[in-house]
Amino acid sequence: MSDSEVYDLFVIGGGVNGCGIARDAVGRGFKVFLAEMEDLASGTSSASTKLIHGGLRYLEHYEFRLVRKALIERETLWRNAPHIIWPLRFVLPYHKGLRPAWMLRLGLFLYDHLGGRKLLPPTRVLDMKTDAAAVPLKHLFQKAFEYSDCWVDDARLVVLNARDAADRGAVIRTRTKVVEARRDGAIWRVTLRDRRTGEAQEVTARLLVNAAGPWVDDILLNVTRSSNAHNVRLVQGSHIVVARKLDDPRAYIFQNDDGRIVFAIPYERDFTLIGTTDYDYRGDPADAATTDAEVDYLCAAASEYFSRNVVPADVVWTYSGVRPLFDDGASAAQEATRDYVLAMEGDADAAPLINVFGGKITTYRRLAEAVMEKVESRLERRGGKWTKEAVLPGGDFPATGFDAAVAALQERFAFLKPDDARRLMRLYGTEVYGILGDAASYDDLGQHFGGGLYAAEVDHLVTREWAITSDDVLWRRTKQGLTLSKPQIDDLSGYLAQHPHYA
Ligand code: FAD
Repeated sequence: MSDSEVYDLFVIGGGVNGCGIARDAVGRGFKVFLAEMEDLASGTSSASTKLIHGGLRYLEHYEFRLVRKALIERETLWRNAPHIIWPLRFVLPYHKGLRPAWMLRLGLFLYDHLGGRKLLPPTRVLDMKTDAAAVPLKHLFQKAFEYSDCWVDDARLVVLNARDAADRGAVIRTRTKVVEARRDGAIWRVTLRDRRTGEAQEVTARLLVNAAGPWVDDILLNVTRSSNAHNVRLVQGSHIVVARKLDDPRAYIFQNDDGRIVFAIPYERDFTLIGTTDYDYRGDPADAATTDAEVDYLCAAASEYFSRNVVPADVVWTYSGVRPLFDDGASAAQEATRDYVLAMEGDADAAPLINVFGGKITTYRRLAEAVMEKVESRLERRGGKWTKEAVLPGGDFPATGFDAAVAALQERFAFLKPDDARRLMRLYGTEVYGILGDAASYDDLGQHFGGGLYAAEVDHLVTREWAITSDDVLWRRTKQGLTLSKPQIDDLSGYLAQHPHYA
């Protein structure tokens, strides 16, 4: 089967970078095709610490340019998607014997002033003898610093970029692996394989973007067969989820005595997320899994600070991802640069290839703009930047208006329990009105799968968000996987397998 259309851009990879690039490109008037071999965000982009942050720690490595760029993005992205992104205050206890107080103060002064902070409150010093932040901690800390960053539902950020791209005309194919891409003069012939049917398809495009994250070298070696491979350093990072440790809405950033830092973050109302680790990784990124040693490491790091020890038996869920860092030759995994590098291949007569190395969730929008600059220089078209002010689907309310949006939803759908109203507004923003339709009670939402999950929501995920399996629904589009039992998950799988959308 072949698609007779010649696309302007073919994007390999449905992570945050691929979907961000596809969205930016289609919004500029390019014809775009994106292929993702698994589910959207099934790679690194659902396995992050989920911070839209400047990266306080990167200041120690003098990455001022990256930190400034990322700090400026915080409020831009919050405004673009106030349902899935929100401000979070971080408590950094001053620990005698680790980084001196003057260094923390200087770092946070820079953090406050390097760029872009208009709505987020500045750093303040906490007296840990009186502040509620001390309650869950050992009585060892006299002082702490409290500063701002933002939280993001990383997997939903990816899906909403894909949604916006598709709404604007891009073709988004999931479970579709790119198996070969070869130049035919000024165009690329890209061979795809549908992983569910096994069917092959050829698509042609003028420019190829390799946004395969930790698979970027695999694409270069096995798909385009070009010479640019071995530019990426794979660094595994894992997180553990435990029952809620914090009554406080604030997150903690703990210094570890190996020089690393570990976050403890309020997660999904009833849980605390603790991470992360940094280990050089070899092998297929799809096989990355949290090791016992990582669980022990994270438990020990958190137990240094919390008055009640965190032990492996507390862990209810773990996840692991592989950072695709640009290999800048740094010796320690935690020191490798977190900035992105774009490499263009193909001289004037050959179809161009743009390879994306590295890049954070936080800088995905800027990365897409940088890719588009290269695209426009080769395809000789100018659409201009547009994503800075453009909201993602469901995000059309003011950045500071989330509580008001929940109140309005509750007024319209009085039957919704407050927790359900908040959860739905967090996931879907104003698109929740379309999901709930004319419902006047929970019974009107169709089959109940457990937790807050009803057929109306699942149908939306299937028809508008490319969800196919129960994992897509439970771990990437929502986090209902933390709530549903095995029989409930089986029911959901049965429902999805019979869904008329796939008939
Ligand atoms: P991916 O999300 O991995 O996407 C690449 C996609 O390409 C995959 O979905 C894969 O299936 C697909 N693919 C590969 N080969 C093919 C093929 N042949 N055909 C079709 N598709 C293919 N960043 C932050 O800003 N804040 C954080 O708090 C943060 N924390 C992190 C914590 C950890 C532990 C890790 C690992 C990373 C963290 N990051 C963070 C970094 C961030 O998550 C990544 O840099 C980002 O998600 C990379 O996105 P990507 O689109 O490049 O890669």
